[in-house]
Amino acid sequence: MITREEAEALDRADPLGARRELFVIPQNTIYLDGNSLGPLPRHVAKRLGNAVSEEWGQSLIRGWNAHGWFDLPRTLGDRIGRLIGARPGTVIAADSTSINLVKVLTAALKLKPGRHVILSDSGNFPSDLYVAQGVIKALGGAWELRIVEPESVEGAIGDDLAVLMLTEVDYRTGRRHDMKKLIAKAHQAGAFAIWDLCHSAGAFPVDLTDGHADFAVGCGYKYLNGGPGAPAFVYVRPDLQDRVEPSLAGWMGHAAPFAFDLDYRPAKGIDRLRAGTPGVLSMIALDSALDVWDGVDMQAVRDKSVRLANLFISEVEGRCASHGLKLASPRDAAGRGSQVSFHCTDGYAVMQALIAHGVIGDFRAPDIIRFGLTPLYIGFADVWDAAHILERVLAEGLWDRADFKKKAQVT
Ligand SMILES: *Cc1c(COP(=O)(O)O)cnc(C)c1O
Repeated sequence: MITREEAEALDRADPLGARRELFVIPQNTIYLDGNSLGPLPRHVAKRLGNAVSEEWGQSLIRGWNAHGWFDLPRTLGDRIGRLIGARPGTVIAADSTSINLVKVLTAALKLKPGRHVILSDSGNFPSDLYVAQGVIKALGGAWELRIVEPESVEGAIGDDLAVLMLTEVDYRTGRRHDMKKLIAKAHQAGAFAIWDLCHSAGAFPVDLTDGHADFAVGCGYKYLNGGPGAPAFVYVRPDLQDRVEPSLAGWMGHAAPFAFDLDYRPAKGIDRLRAGTPGVLSMIALDSALDVWDGVDMQAVRDKSVRLANLFISEVEGRCASHGLKLASPRDAAGRGSQVSFHCTDGYAVMQALIAHGVIGDFRAPDIIRFGLTPLYIGFADVWDAAHILERVLAEGLWDRADFKKKAQVT
């Protein structure tokens, strides 16, 4: 444990410290939920306002050509690609993570005829598992979704596998898979690997190229700060792109959308992963939000994230262990993403009380309180304060109120 003065000194020496000014963080708020919804980068409001009043308002239909609207999925894809080790032309921004997963899962299954197992784990985000169940049904039911414990994934990779489909970082505990090793294993078994990078992109360095990833999807509204419901992204390995047969075949992914042919012919390369018209305003918000990453070294982000997490864990354990809090995240930073979670009895009410006292994290059933650590706008003193407020909430029983126990629609 350290003193607040020591935490402040760490902030003064922090090379990423100045980035905080790029964000709108409401007064008296310690925002530890950027892994659920990133905050608003300050300059986005003006850019978006201009897109509405000038680009849409004045250019009207001409905006598609005049303002690069049509190319936004590619422009954004390349910018996101830099953060995840993907070469230009291998990523597009499009749709939602769930929808992009449908696209790559169907494509991957078609490329592995004769193999009928999709392997995933119980730490995966439920939507990913629902997508797999839905895809299997839509394709006539010939596949099996095999779900094992996260620790058993490696041993469960066998020759019957078509696709290994995993989320790199567990949304509840922050446990992180060894992506490169598991991809190599999947390839040895003759299978593809699909990765969900929702809690990876913008959280720490990812290298899809070096890892030989086949397919990946991820989210624009978490660590990438693109705003509620921001476009997601999808990656396809360069040499697979022209073999992908899109199941969501729409005109925007057609080789010549404005030829209006009656028959579908996929575009070359990653563009065939487009389906319909992109949400231009959301794309512009995300594009503008991505400016905060310009000049940022992802390794510096990771280094600070690990130090923030270690400080938070030591302060919380030092102060709150007697109240029954138990670390749910891996203690070893190497096995962790950029969040820290604790098992906590009455965790929902505890989190509501924390939020009422200015510390915003979130709750995940059955008993997890979760804190996202986002180095561009969270500092050491924030984390120190959050641990102290948590201690007060627990020691003084501030959570023990009926209104804190009533569950809202979104937790
Ligand atoms: C947030 C999240 C999603 C969300 O998918 P949407 O389609 O944007 O709702 C998917 N997978 C993981 C791992 C997530 O954390």
